[in-house]
Amino acid sequence: MNQLSEAVIREVVTEVLSKLQAGSTPVVQSRNRRHGVFENASSAAKAAVGGFEQLKKTGWAGRSKVIEIVKQMCADNAERWGKIEFEETKIGRLDHKIAKLYGIKNVLGTEFLTPLGMSGDSGITMEECAPWGVIGSITPVTHSIPTIAGNIVNMVAAGNSIVFNPHPGGAACAALAIHEFNEAIKAALGIENLICTIEKPSLDSFNELCAAPEVNLLCITGGPAVVDAAMKTGKRAICAGPGNPPVVVDECSALDFNKVAKDIILGGGFDNNLLCIGEKQIFVVGDSYAPFMDAMKRAGAVLLNNGQLDAIKKEVFTFKEGDGGCSHAALNRAFVGADASKLGRIAGLNLAANTEMLIAETGADDLFVVEEQMMPVLPIVRCRTFDEAVRLAKDSEHGYKHSAMVHTMNVSNMTKMGRAMDTTLFVKNGPCVAGLGMGGEGYISFSIATTTGEGITTPKTFTRFRRCALVDQLNII
Ligand code: NAD
Repeated sequence: MNQLSEAVIREVVTEVLSKLQAGSTPVVQSRNRRHGVFENASSAAKAAVGGFEQLKKTGWAGRSKVIEIVKQMCADNAERWGKIEFEETKIGRLDHKIAKLYGIKNVLGTEFLTPLGMSGDSGITMEECAPWGVIGSITPVTHSIPTIAGNIVNMVAAGNSIVFNPHPGGAACAALAIHEFNEAIKAALGIENLICTIEKPSLDSFNELCAAPEVNLLCITGGPAVVDAAMKTGKRAICAGPGNPPVVVDECSALDFNKVAKDIILGGGFDNNLLCIGEKQIFVVGDSYAPFMDAMKRAGAVLLNNGQLDAIKKEVFTFKEGDGGCSHAALNRAFVGADASKLGRIAGLNLAANTEMLIAETGADDLFVVEEQMMPVLPIVRCRTFDEAVRLAKDSEHGYKHSAMVHTMNVSNMTKMGRAMDTTLFVKNGPCVAGLGMGGEGYISFSIATTTGEGITTPKTFTRFRRCALVDQLNII
């Protein structure tokens, strides 16, 4: 049996007694006592109720202060946290981990929660956005701290507290950022445990979190397995599910192929293709093929031959049933978010470390087209007509209704593809990130509720609408 020192026993007893005296249920914090980091989901959920109640007392001003703190801390710590996340997850690109944290400033806060007022002969009515209470949030390994920070801004703006069950591969950096957020929030507002997390998240802690009676709403950001699991819990779940975004490059003499190539490499190469909205497969129509391929090479993409592509394919897909992976059993996770130069080495290529993208001509049924592989390898499919390209693009998206891109100056073709794809994001003549306000109009969120249809999440997504009607009075006009 371990020998517990008298000092440790005294500390534990003092903490439990102080919690009992304060009238709260004792909760099990992580052994190294980081603020908001708990050993299990049920303790975290109980503590988050306390965080929610304290936030309520601080009113709108308190919510706004939390958001200001979280946005400022993401900017101030972008380099340090980006590096820590990169070292833990070992996927993607350091400069883009940092850029994502700087992007948190564009997540919507309290300013988005305007009430709806109605006034008429029968009085006045107000519809307001009320909080749910404690939200259980599941986050991906592809953007651990950014998803957590973005969720905090949206969810706290709406008046909620949160318990995170982060991906185990990004749980340590999540706990670190959450501890630091909580300490700053406590220093500014006196609120404890507004943001909680589970120290060692697992499928068991996911189940425990979903079942916790204190958790009123779930927000899931991840692949098909976790979305399916959440939808079976019986709790309301906002699901930001998987994607496999296609791009169609039209046959269009007015296109600037240098810009098309630049846009595709910017979006598809971002964080080594880890973005769920990132360009994943390209369908090129008719005579555009040759100028498009030339432009891709000029922009730095490395063209693979069939043998080289096959060599990479054999390594990055396991071809075994039930083998895990992000979106399909066949994907070998060791190569998700890998550098293009690392993938090139499999094919015997010695590429510069800063190579952003590998490209290869493939059929529409190639694994690189069909799978959401999240690697900087873009399969390029030749199509005879725009209609054929749209049909193949739609098949490759698997009905996820996530994201799609088109490059064309033909407005009727844009319209045709937009209607056919029916995706949550549809970007014309820009990189995928333009759909999240980077180069296009709009705001950002790292949780895009594709499966359940709420779209790019905002504070409103995490509220309950309530109506308050006053009969025959205060209609002063
Ligand atoms: P993932 O599905 O492997 O993991 C996501 C989260 O779910 C993690 O916290 C993980 O621990 C948990 N999880 C996984 N399987 C589970 C199960 N069966 N039961 C309970 N929990 C489970 O995904 P990932 O690799 O971390 O992230 C990439 C995936 O997430 C891609 O499919 C990508 O498209 C998607 N994604 C979507 C959005 C969006 O906004 N729609 C944003 C980012 C990522």
